[in-house]
Amino acid sequence: MEVRTRFAPSPTGFMHLGGVRTALYAFLYARKNGGRFILRIEDTDQERYVEGATEVIYDTLKACGMQWDEGPDVGGDYGPYIQSERKDIYLPYAEELIRKGKAYYCFCTKDELDERRRAAESRGETFKYDKHCLHLSQEEVRRRLDAGMPYVIRQNAPTEGESSYHDMVFGDISMPNDTLDDMVLIKQDGMPTYNFANVIDDHLMGITHVIRGMEYLSSTPKYDLLYEAFGWDIPKYIHLPTVMRDASHKLSKRDGDAYYSDFISKGYLTEALINYLALVGWNPGDDREFFTMDELIEAFDVKGINKAPGIFDVNKLTWFNAHYIRELPFEKYLEMVTPWFDSVFDGMENKPDYRRLAELMQGRTEVFGLVPGMVSFLRQMPEYGDDLYFNKKMKTSAETAGPVLEMIRPVLEGIDDWKEDIIHDRVMEKIAESGMKNGAVLWPLRIAISGLANTPGGAFEIAYLLGKDETLHRLDAAIARLKKA
Ligand code: GLU
Repeated sequence: MEVRTRFAPSPTGFMHLGGVRTALYAFLYARKNGGRFILRIEDTDQERYVEGATEVIYDTLKACGMQWDEGPDVGGDYGPYIQSERKDIYLPYAEELIRKGKAYYCFCTKDELDERRRAAESRGETFKYDKHCLHLSQEEVRRRLDAGMPYVIRQNAPTEGESSYHDMVFGDISMPNDTLDDMVLIKQDGMPTYNFANVIDDHLMGITHVIRGMEYLSSTPKYDLLYEAFGWDIPKYIHLPTVMRDASHKLSKRDGDAYYSDFISKGYLTEALINYLALVGWNPGDDREFFTMDELIEAFDVKGINKAPGIFDVNKLTWFNAHYIRELPFEKYLEMVTPWFDSVFDGMENKPDYRRLAELMQGRTEVFGLVPGMVSFLRQMPEYGDDLYFNKKMKTSAETAGPVLEMIRPVLEGIDDWKEDIIHDRVMEKIAESGMKNGAVLWPLRIAISGLANTPGGAFEIAYLLGKDETLHRLDAAIARLKKA
């Protein structure tokens, strides 16, 4: 039998990382087994619908390299793939359940339900629909329907015995039936609930493996009752543990670590994110860490999915990201880093040589979003203290720096062809002639023109990137400052 998995997001905003990981596992499972990966948009909850969210889903999956085989835009034999366009499909199935005694019309109003909920809570009980309308006579139901009274259709769940099923990650799950509530299948507006539509659609779309978040573990017995009532095959279940920030915190919108787009806008690479996300909650069974999508497909196995929540560690992601950035072909890196350079240097008359700066930066870039902070010293001399001149190993300090800078200034001023190798050669000649150690000169020189203890590149590179005028200008300022001190 052909494996068919689906990703069934609700278009309610940005793509949550947990959702991206669910999509990834569903995609990997389909590809690994030579099956098909289906995209279904679950938009029956009109109140939660967010304009544009469907496009965000398409764009994110595409950017991540998860192309679906069937779905709203690409079509397929089981469409439409947007639930609101399937609206008319569901009611006849609900009516079939009513005929079979597995569902019933319910006319209770919101106010009535609220009151009964309050009463239950005041008795210290959790409210569960009390099957009130199940007991209406057929004539009464007919009369109310004919009178056009608003209604919902509810599942008639058993109250005795136990329901159990097998989950490929969590194992055998059993639940006493008296905990199952009579969930709404069709809402007053005629739309199916998720609880109903997921069953109908997974069946009609031939889904063999349902891969979704573990928040559905406890509802699954109710879904199975529906499959059984229709006499349909029950799909295999693969519920996934939640993606968490740590043992007690979820990823959150407020902390800016919940959405795929949060990470992309901070300058993480999709490849790094996908590679890392795959490992949040899944173990390849060996100590490999780096995977291309094809390698993930090859290695993916449900046996490696953990039951414990997956901890999404941003530092670990950053480590992966730095690796992926280092591995980028240089031209690609240059192209990607250019807008980040522009955000600092735009409007400058003599911008630094981007190509040279990129060469110096690639190995140091963990996340593109950190680049501006690392190169902004080239645009503006940072505030710094003269204690930066102190370096024990180089035997330098604010006292030794002044004369050294004065010695180098005329050398730099004398260079007409401002190239890195020429700057290097002239300064090194001068150092040799002075009999000083390289570090004793290069350290203070670099501090004087960068104001930073750590920089991409050393004194020659920075002088080159700054240009002659700016280098001399910074040197003069440093010399004047040291004299005053
Ligand atoms: N629309 C549901 C959600 O976004 C999908 C759950 C499922 O995959 O069945 O949570």
